[in-house]
Amino acid sequence: MNAHILDYAAVGIGPANMSLAALAHPVEGLRGAHLERRESFSWHPGLLLPEATLQVSLLKDLVTLVDPTSPFSFLSFLASEGRLYRFLAADFPAVLRAEFNQYLQWVAGRLPSLTFGADVHSVDFHDGAFHLRTAEREVTARHLVLGTGLTPSVPEPFRPFIGPTVFHSGEFLLRSPEVTGRRVVVVGGGQSGAEIVRHLAAGAAAESITWVSRRSSFLPMDDSPFANDLYTPDYVRRFHALPADHKSRLLERQKYTSDGIDLQVLQDIYRLSYRDEFIEDNPGRLRFMADCAVTAVEGGPGDFKLVVESSGPEAPAVLAADLVILSTGYAYALPDFMAPLDARLRRDGGMLVVGDDFSVAWDGPAENRIYLQNGARHAWGVADPNLSLLAWRSAVILNSMLGETRYPV
Ligand SMILES: Cc1cc2nc3c(=O)[nH]c(=O)nc-3n(C[C@H](O)[C@H](O)[C@H](O)COP(=O)(O)OP(=O)(O)OC[C@H]3O[C@@H](n4cnc5c(N)ncnc54)[C@H](O)[C@@H]3O)c2cc1C
Repeated sequence: MNAHILDYAAVGIGPANMSLAALAHPVEGLRGAHLERRESFSWHPGLLLPEATLQVSLLKDLVTLVDPTSPFSFLSFLASEGRLYRFLAADFPAVLRAEFNQYLQWVAGRLPSLTFGADVHSVDFHDGAFHLRTAEREVTARHLVLGTGLTPSVPEPFRPFIGPTVFHSGEFLLRSPEVTGRRVVVVGGGQSGAEIVRHLAAGAAAESITWVSRRSSFLPMDDSPFANDLYTPDYVRRFHALPADHKSRLLERQKYTSDGIDLQVLQDIYRLSYRDEFIEDNPGRLRFMADCAVTAVEGGPGDFKLVVESSGPEAPAVLAADLVILSTGYAYALPDFMAPLDARLRRDGGMLVVGDDFSVAWDGPAENRIYLQNGARHAWGVADPNLSLLAWRSAVILNSMLGETRYPV
């Protein structure tokens, strides 16, 4: 094998590919490059609200569930930073997302295979290797690992208005919008919407905050034991083997095991609304519109008019807004740089066919694989976009690349 050809090149350094880098680090002789377009690591910086917490156990870090002895665990981070005892005494009900971000940055600083400021803009395959190009260099590798994350979903009526006063929640802190005296509408009844509503409602600045959701109510996440069983290797392997139509039915039914709202956040919002109404004598500042969808947007910056329809017989309502925050979720999209290989990937019903080892079926040589991190919810189930099986999935991919069971999974 040509000495310039690496064993693998991984694109995107979020938690998924960072987990791969951490587990690959002790594997002698394995040569991989991890490329990230951002200048440094930051975990969803637009939503890194100071009060936000992880929705999963701290054991679901980059490595622990596969290798509890790894030096890249969350506990190693706490110990290395001298805060283990204080962390225990603080007894947080859940890890602060800001602290998990510190942990991820700490790991990023210890892995030499990571390169930041490297935006991959094209990839092709020839002479037995993938050739990836960034503005500065070309990287050649036997396998490719896609870990580019999900893309924000923006519903059609809002698209012409995207800008400083209508934007996706993933940009919330980056845009740091002025809310003083403004009528704010948050669209979307999932966790991100809830976190933004809580954040705004805790302050007095916004004139009003209206939360609109298609869901029948503001529904909690199911965090019960049998729901959590869906986030285990045994379950996802069984799920992966099911027929496609059965999978899509299950995905719909299992949605609220991850897409519901953290109970603590719901309680906080409810109490803030109670405070506004009965203690601050400001009833109606917080308004909740469940079972409603925004079907049209009129007006423009400074005075948007949102047409809101419920599933009931009532006439549509018109909601005035100065600022609209779209907490309307994320979806997987094959990154643009994959365009040269797109037609060579196998799809079933429009969806990528993703195998037992998370490699995408394609018409290239079997010894060159394209692995997919966090892009196969349709094939692997509700756990795929979540932190829960990050370490396990990385271990499966590593074992497949190595052709041996380096990590028992
Ligand atoms: C606000 C928020 C909080 C979450 N909290 C939890 C939680 O508590 N528990 C849980 O289980 N899950 C949580 N999730 C879901 C999931 O765990 C995270 O989204 C996680 O970050 C996914 O990791 P990833 O590596 O797949 O993608 P990402 O973290 O999105 O990383 C992808 C990276 O790829 C880079 N990239 C994209 N294209 C290119 C390119 N062409 N070249 C180079 N780099 C590129 C991007 O810049 C990005 O840094 C959360 C999601 C969000 C949005």
